[in-house]
Amino acid sequence: MFPNIKYFRCFINPESVSPHLFCSICQEVFVEPYRAPCGHSYCKHCIMEWLKNSNTCPEDRKKLTLKNMHHDFILENIIGDQKVGCPYREQGCCKVLNLSALGLHLKDCSFNPLNIPEFLKKDLHSLSPKDAGNFFYSIEV
Ligand SMILES: [Zn+2]
Ligand SMILES: [Zn+2]
Ligand SMILES: [Zn+2]
Repeated sequence: MFPNIKYFRCFINPESVSPHLFCSICQEVFVEPYRAPCGHSYCKHCIMEWLKNSNTCPEDRKKLTLKNMHHDFILENIIGDQKVGCPYREQGCCKVLNLSALGLHLKDCSFNPLNIPEFLKKDLHSLSPKDAGNFFYSIEV
């Protein structure tokens, strides 16, 4: 499920996202950042994988166990304030919002295939994403 999270985060200005918000293990913006006592932070998933074969911090080799780490809410809030586009932009959704609000938007985004009623899904498979977008405009009016 991990790569999906990244796919869903379409940062509007990736160049403007602070380098401090990137995980040194996966080179992506943190997902669920966890901070070590030495001050380094990693995605929870990344550091859990790392600690399976190691008991040191990847950056400075200081002793580290998952128990010593804590959820870094400050980093997570900063990341939550970054602007992202709806991942269904290609399908026609032009919503731009804070990352922290994305989960809520996806629940009622009318371009999210999970929100499409079953009987419409079949028809949509035969449409290109752009046509599918137009299709939705036409059924909303
Ligand atoms: Zn990571
Ligand atoms: Zn460290
Ligand atoms: Zn949307």
